[in-house]
Amino acid sequence: MKNLLVLLLGSNEGDSLNNLNKARLLLQSTLGEIQISSSVYRTQAWGKTNQPDFLNQVVIMNYTGKANEALEVILTIESNLGRKRNEKWGPRVIDIDILYFGSKIYNSVELTVPHPALHVRRFTLVPLVEIIPEFIHPVLNKSQQQLLDVCTDTLEVTKLL
Ligand code: ADP
Ligand code: MG
Repeated sequence: MKNLLVLLLGSNEGDSLNNLNKARLLLQSTLGEIQISSSVYRTQAWGKTNQPDFLNQVVIMNYTGKANEALEVILTIESNLGRKRNEKWGPRVIDIDILYFGSKIYNSVELTVPHPALHVRRFTLVPLVEIIPEFIHPVLNKSQQQLLDVCTDTLEVTKLL
């Protein structure tokens, strides 16, 4: 898992499946080849529930650059796909979050890795468990499977394809 960049893609505005597909293509043409993709999952919106369901997918790429450079590329891809930042937790065309960058730890507002909320969200843990169940969270020292086992989030996460 040395240089493995683990990303969560999410969309609940427009053609969400197509938004995920476009995001994966743009990630491949900028950061590098995607090594593993999880299934696509459908989830009720988290935090603010009166909005369309989300589609989520975790992808893993082998990335040898710097974390802040990856973040910059990700923010550019989001804005190229039409992401507008207004309402917190509101509908979004595409959201790309860095979940893990190998076992590295970053603690600034611009970049917090491992992602600070990944262990409280089933929609993040379910796809992680599908593809890297044994990987140890470098701060919490639990595997993805162990994190899911103790997660109290009740939002339903169903495999779409
Ligand atoms: P959220 O994903 O929390 O709904 P946004 O996608 O609007 O919010 O991201 C807001 C900011 O979060 C980004 O500009 C980025 O600098 C910061 N950020 C901090 N840690 C991360 C991370 N692990 N992955 C992605 N963005 C992050
Ligand atoms: Mg985000």
